[in-house]
Formats: sequence, C-alpha cells, structure tokens
Amino acid sequence: MKEEIFALKHIYKRFPLGEGEFTALKDLSLSMQAAEFAGLVGPSGSGKTTLLNIIGGLDQPSEGEAIVLGQDVAKMSAKAAANFRNLELGFIFQQFNLLPVYTVFENVEFPLLLQKKSKAERQKAVKEALEWLGIAHLANKKPDKLSGGEGQRVAIARAIVKRPKLILADEPTANLDAANAHNIMRLMRRLNQELGTSFLFSTHDEKVMAYLERIIHLRDGEIEKDEAKTPKTVSE
Ligand code: ADP
Repeated sequence: MKEEIFALKHIYKRFPLGEGEFTALKDLSLSMQAAEFAGLVGPSGSGKTTLLNIIGGLDQPSEGEAIVLGQDVAKMSAKAAANFRNLELGFIFQQFNLLPVYTVFENVEFPLLLQKKSKAERQKAVKEALEWLGIAHLANKKPDKLSGGEGQRVAIARAIVKRPKLILADEPTANLDAANAHNIMRLMRRLNQELGTSFLFSTHDEKVMAYLERIIHLRDGEIEKDEAKTPKTVSE
C-alpha cells in the first residue's frame, strides 16, 4: 500500500464577511500519496491558498478532518502547528521569502537550526542541498545579489534541506521568466522522482501544469475535477 501524505475529509473554511461569513472551502475531501507531483489549479479566489494553508498548518478549517503526515493539523495549537511545519514540511513561495541579512548558506541552514541539528549535520545537509540545486558557488552571497532564478533555487534548497516528505509550493514560478520557470520545474520534478518528495503546487501557470501528473481543479471552494495526466518529462 502506498504511504498517505495527507487526507482531508469534509473540510469547510469560513471567513467572517461583514455581518455574515464567506465560505472559502465547501465540504472538500482530498488525499495525496507519497511521491505525487500534483497541483491545485483554479481561478483567483477559488480557494487554492486557503487549502495549502490548511494542509501546511498555517490556518485551521472551520469544520472537517485534516490529517497531514499522520498528524491532526485541524486540532493543533498554534505552537504545535509551527513546530510541525518547521520539522516536517517544506514551503516554497512566489516571493522566495529569503532572509536578506543572511548569506545563501545561512538561509538554507536556517530550517536545520530550528530542528536543532548539529553543526556537522547542518554543514553536510546544506552543502548537499546547494549542490543538488547547482548553486554551491553562491553559498556566500546575500539574497539581493541573486537573480530571480537563483533566488528561487535557494528557496528550493531551503525547502529540501530537511528532506521533508511534502513540499507545498504556492505559485513558485510567478516571478520567473519562461526559461527559469521551466528550469525550476525540471529541478523540482527531479527532486520528486529521485528523492520521492511529494509536491503540491498552487498555480495558474501553464508551464507548471505541463510537468504535473495530477491536476486538482478548484472552483468556488469545491473540487470541480481531479485529473491524472501524463507530465512533460524533465529531459524535454
Ligand atoms: P486563491 O488562492 O484560489 O486565489 P484564496 O484561497 O486566496 O484563493 O481565497 C479564497 C477566497 O477566500 C477568496 O474569496 C478570498 O477573498 C477569501 N479569503 C481568503 N483568506 C481570507 C481571510 N483571511 N479573510 C477573509 N476572506 C478570505
């Protein structure tokens, strides 16, 4: 049997709106298995980020069950959720979110400090992650000296350095030109295939969708279609 990465059951998310409330996710059930490369796709406001936030323990559902890597993220305290994110998940965002005063090496090392890894373990893991992403030569640079493609590689190295089973990537190519977007997608797909890391994207970008093997279409907070497809290969 394949390993279950997450299982969401009958999730509702309501936000206060004026006198009433707005339902951003409606009775949504979704699961993902180990080593999947999948994306949430849908119009702006369809609930993609809200769903990623719930899976990542950044927000809680109003109703429903959310088991992520065996843990019940719907019922965690804020502190437990922060711990869970730091230890178990990788995040990649469109604006990279690198810490400007630290070097590339220190940015990638950061998650391992939170995990309280030894210095020797940190150095080995950071070096490996930088080599994986082809950016070992950038180790001592500050983020403001990096191009967009380099910055996103650093962000991916930071996500992968703790070898999470699941990486959540919210519009990771939104600030990249077409050539960089393809390169970044090929890199993530290689990590997915070689390390077995599961990726869940949120995206509007056709270039991202081309590499996905599963597309979950959201509309008005509901799953409209959950589609398996043949992805573009990384050598194309
Ligand atoms: P998407 O990522 O697909 O663009 P979102 O998940 O960001 O969609 O938003 C889904 C809906 O929920 C939108 O209508 C948005 O305005 C609403 N929403 C999201 N976050 C909040 C919030 N914190 N408070 C109120 N409404 C919100």
